[in-house]
Amino acid sequence: MDKVILEKWATGTPTFSVEFFPAKEEKDARQLLRAANAVKKLPIDFASITYGAGGSSRERTLDYGELIADIFGFRVMPHLTLVGHSKAELLAILERYKKAGFFSIMALRGDPPKGETAFTPAPDGLKHASELVALIRENYGDAQLIGVGGYPEKHPESPDIETDLRFLKEKIDCGANFVTTQMFFDNEKYFSFVERAREAGIRVPIIPGIMPVLSFKQLARINALSQAHVPAELRDALEAADRAGDKEAGIEIGLSWAEKQIRELIRRGAPGIHLYIMNRGCFAQNLCARLGDFTALRR
Ligand SMILES: Cc1cc2nc3c(=O)[nH]c(=O)nc-3n(C[C@H](O)[C@H](O)[C@H](O)COP(=O)(O)OP(=O)(O)OC[C@H]3O[C@@H](n4cnc5c(N)ncnc54)[C@H](O)[C@@H]3O)c2cc1C
Repeated sequence: MDKVILEKWATGTPTFSVEFFPAKEEKDARQLLRAANAVKKLPIDFASITYGAGGSSRERTLDYGELIADIFGFRVMPHLTLVGHSKAELLAILERYKKAGFFSIMALRGDPPKGETAFTPAPDGLKHASELVALIRENYGDAQLIGVGGYPEKHPESPDIETDLRFLKEKIDCGANFVTTQMFFDNEKYFSFVERAREAGIRVPIIPGIMPVLSFKQLARINALSQAHVPAELRDALEAADRAGDKEAGIEIGLSWAEKQIRELIRRGAPGIHLYIMNRGCFAQNLCARLGDFTALRR
């Protein structure tokens, strides 16, 4: 198992990681590579790459994960969702991830396919992310770090946060090493989640996932997907910029909100930051320039 990241967390050194999504078409591939090139100059500890909801896009996680590792030298963590896969298919993908030498896997269930409201396991498939974590550990021992998703404002299917935390603990008990959170815009949601997770016996690092939201339209899209609470101050400012047709002002509002969030998270002890960059490297660059040395933010 790659010890570098674990050691950083153990010694209280915050990590910085970014998330890419695999390109669908040639123009998207150019954007992904440009973003990776921009991020390469930043002090990033690892890069994650998401897993598609279905079809051929799923192959691209492996392809682009390998590509950005080869070209830019990133430590790469591909995501894997169990939705729509039999156990045998998952094992075949895991074998390919192992051959590619990825240091970590983000093990997820995935959402129900478009048009379906409830999750149904594939024939001979798995039901919960905890089973995927267990499958990886049973077959590969401690070869890779395993990350899992966590929801400061609870997973939408969960009746309450206690139930959700019980199942989060199950993922850790099956062998996950860390949690990356769903995006949130109100840091108190994260701090309260961490406190309750600790009370529930979850001891692993819980990495906050931060997304700079750069326009009112983007906020509306995110809201529909994630149900994250949006503080009125942020929403009103983005709405005013939108009404004024001032795109630059929207970008500035989103970046300074993310900067404020990150400064406070690190100062109050978060083990790192995972930045949802949406394949736009310039915003990650801008944020890093504002923040300076991550370790110094701790003081
Ligand atoms: C950091 C992060 C990265 C993500 N990346 C991707 C991606 O690349 N591709 C993608 O398609 N989606 C991605 N997602 C979205 C994710 O797939 C969805 O949120 C999905 O609905 C839940 O996945 P999970 O791994 O959290 O599922 P689980 O941990 O299995 O939980 C799903 C629901 O089931 C409940 N549950 C868990 N275990 C049990 C149990 N034993 N019995 C009963 N109920 C249980 C949970 O409380 C929760 O309500 C990501 C989410 C996060 C937070």
